[in-house]
Amino acid sequence: MYLTLNDPELLRSQAFINGVWSEAEDGKTLAVTNPANAELLTSVPDMGASETRRAIEAAQAAWFDWRSRPAKARAQILQRWYELVMSAQDDLARLMTAEQGKPLAEAKGEVAYGASFIEWFAEEAKRAYGDVIPSPTADKRLVVTKQSVGVVAAITPWNFPIAMITRKVAPALAAGCPVVVKPAPETPLCALALALLAKRAGLPDGLLNIITCSKENASLVGGEMTSNPIVRKLSFTGSTPVGKLLMRQSSDTVKKVSLELGGNAPFIVFDDADLDAAVAGVLASKYRNTGQTCVCANRILVQDGVYDAFAQKLSAAVSALTVGAGLEGDVQQGPLINEAALAKVQRHVDDAVAKGARIVLGGKPHALGGTFFEPTILADVTPEMLVTREETFGPVAPLYRFHTEDEAIALANDTEFGLASYFYSRDIGRIWRVAEALESGMVGINEGIISNEVAPFGGIKESGLGREGSRYGLEEYLETKYLCMGGL
Ligand code: ADP
Repeated sequence: MYLTLNDPELLRSQAFINGVWSEAEDGKTLAVTNPANAELLTSVPDMGASETRRAIEAAQAAWFDWRSRPAKARAQILQRWYELVMSAQDDLARLMTAEQGKPLAEAKGEVAYGASFIEWFAEEAKRAYGDVIPSPTADKRLVVTKQSVGVVAAITPWNFPIAMITRKVAPALAAGCPVVVKPAPETPLCALALALLAKRAGLPDGLLNIITCSKENASLVGGEMTSNPIVRKLSFTGSTPVGKLLMRQSSDTVKKVSLELGGNAPFIVFDDADLDAAVAGVLASKYRNTGQTCVCANRILVQDGVYDAFAQKLSAAVSALTVGAGLEGDVQQGPLINEAALAKVQRHVDDAVAKGARIVLGGKPHALGGTFFEPTILADVTPEMLVTREETFGPVAPLYRFHTEDEAIALANDTEFGLASYFYSRDIGRIWRVAEALESGMVGINEGIISNEVAPFGGIKESGLGREGSRYGLEEYLETKYLCMGGL
């Protein structure tokens, strides 16, 4: 019932290798379920190293023709793919909500967001400029060109089943690189639907391959991707421990690596902030996707003078959020992805309460059961609690009290992560000081939603390497080649 699609072909149950819908060699499959009700949606192949190798070899074989085409020709196919994704927006959103759980309106938003990377990189494909460098000697001419790096392996998470794929695949294809994607075991269906639409858009076989596999087989697929010398670039979005492992594995063949890992975003509300705007910012940044994004506010630091007023306003706003299955009516909070996620959120809340935090709102599993959790606010939170150190990845807003700007900056930077941070202030001097002092790749200033296709997304410290989206995102898939012409 959930998956009534206008275009039923978009629901695929096979992986995609070299343009062919394929089964696992040993016939094994894995179940894809709806996190809102545990219903089985379909099964997909549970592949391993051998199928991954085949996909990598097919990608390599497709590379020469693709990279030799004019950028404009690649752009035209990407542009058609973008249009097909947008025409299938409703179906893709339903698929996404069914396998991932986010409310339908958010899923539609993600389809458009994901598609925007395809459109953007179709345009950027034509702008991979090089350089002519004035020569230090009369008899030489120096030229710098940009060339595609080669076969790309992409490993993606379940929280943005479309956007995390298009953000890697679109710049890779635009630059001239073929891609082998391993989507998360929880959300393979959006990836497969994207591949079908790419094929319909005219993308030649071998350039986009989707290897589906279970949690258990992920290390086999990842092992092949990182050890195979044909793969020249690995792009990963996911947890920090897995990112570190893949980086280590990639070192033997010295692959280029882009990593988008965990965050622990501070969200600072200064005394001079517009409190209503700050509340809206927390709602957007903390509770979007039920708190399951890597740029979600994880620690909310509030200055003493506005702490109580802010807590009150936030509580009123959060208690108005409707929790429910994403496909049913107007809900703002879906289920968590699985039981392990629910257990982690509960562990963070219990640990905070045991160490002296106060529950302002929520704090326990939702009456709906399953993996639904109540939108939660904790007050009087301190640095020794788990919520301060780890990414909660759930709908829990911990409030910390601070007194001075220096104290807020020190607290904000006291983490090994450095993905996003946010602060609210109306003082122009403070805005510059704090923006420059925060150790993160992205800073939202009086703004809780910062991601879009034209801006560089990425982190510093242990949050990752490289940038996605924007003109910087194309560079990740290009090599710089220097040509020195002598004897003139
Ligand atoms: P999460 O906790 O959000 O699932 P992970 O980092 O475990 O974060 O997952 C992100 C992606 O990395 C998923 O596609 C997952 O299957 C994949 N993954 C997990 N472990 C490995 C591994 N050892 N090798 C390759 N991929 C892996």
